[in-house]
Amino acid sequence: MAGNCVEVAFNKPKVELHVHLDGTIRPETILDVAKGDREAIKRVAYEFVETKAKEGVLYVEVRYSPHLLANTEVDPIPWSQKEGDLTPDEVVDLVNRGLRAGENTFRIKARSILCCMRHMPNWSMEVVELCKKYRHSGVVAIDLAGDESLNCEAHPGHRKAFEEAVRSGVHRTVHAGEVGPPSVVKEAVEVLKAERIGHGYRTLEDRTLYEQLLKKNMHFEVCPMSSKLTGACDPDFTKHPLIRFKEDKANYSLNTDDPLIFNTTLDVDYSITQKYMNFTEKEFKRLNINAAKSSFLPEKEKKDLLNRLFDAYGMKKPALKGGTENSRDIQLIMSTHSE
Ligand code: ZN
Repeated sequence: MAGNCVEVAFNKPKVELHVHLDGTIRPETILDVAKGDREAIKRVAYEFVETKAKEGVLYVEVRYSPHLLANTEVDPIPWSQKEGDLTPDEVVDLVNRGLRAGENTFRIKARSILCCMRHMPNWSMEVVELCKKYRHSGVVAIDLAGDESLNCEAHPGHRKAFEEAVRSGVHRTVHAGEVGPPSVVKEAVEVLKAERIGHGYRTLEDRTLYEQLLKKNMHFEVCPMSSKLTGACDPDFTKHPLIRFKEDKANYSLNTDDPLIFNTTLDVDYSITQKYMNFTEKEFKRLNINAAKSSFLPEKEKKDLLNRLFDAYGMKKPALKGGTENSRDIQLIMSTHSE
């Protein structure tokens, strides 16, 4: 696999927030899944944790659409499968169990995000209900993925689901501004109340919006290699929007997105930024700390994760002084993401 024979760009614990489980499945496993084998779904999740542990990831949030792995109680049944007996609900339970088994074996932390699909607004209410049902078994947030040209005005199912997420304290991230215009990012933030933006590159085309999001310390889940392979960004990495994010000290993370489809590893993404965008060890540490702060973990676990990173990076833990509510750091350590 790419990246194995090159030197590792950042050989320290990392946090990854944007990676698709359905985009990480090993080919032999896909065949098993196609047969509807329950063990195979658990195995996909388990092997995912193994892969991430090998890449030096300490904490990962992995996302998928439960409906796309189900073959009953889903309308329409995806991939033209024959109807079987695997419901979206059971898919979530199986993935949770696979991730947990992986955590126990490989000693890292893995949580999941359930995806709504833009072209399937009729699935979204069920997605948020699954987020609520499994919030204590590893599911930390809801996402909206798919074709960005399908807006939420035309498809109110997503808006209703995200309103319910806000109401019930389910965290929210939205794929936006990857290939779609800045208006999709605006809708994600203003209508869907997204706390993080998947990709968000095209935010830069709307100066006012970008400044607003910088001020809010909005987190961008950046996926360098993916953005080249999907054609979302200029293939010349020296022109990548990430350079602007870095210069502006924006809040962002580095992620693989769909590592198996792209035949890539997290190290490839780090190496790209080092080679073409002059990323330094200091920036790698900063962005991972920001990723941890922007993770959807409960406060106590988030602090533990941050402390582990500070230790591994040889950094002093910032003292939490009183009367500094305006300090971006303190605010984020205490975080606005309370349940
Ligand atoms: Zn994605």
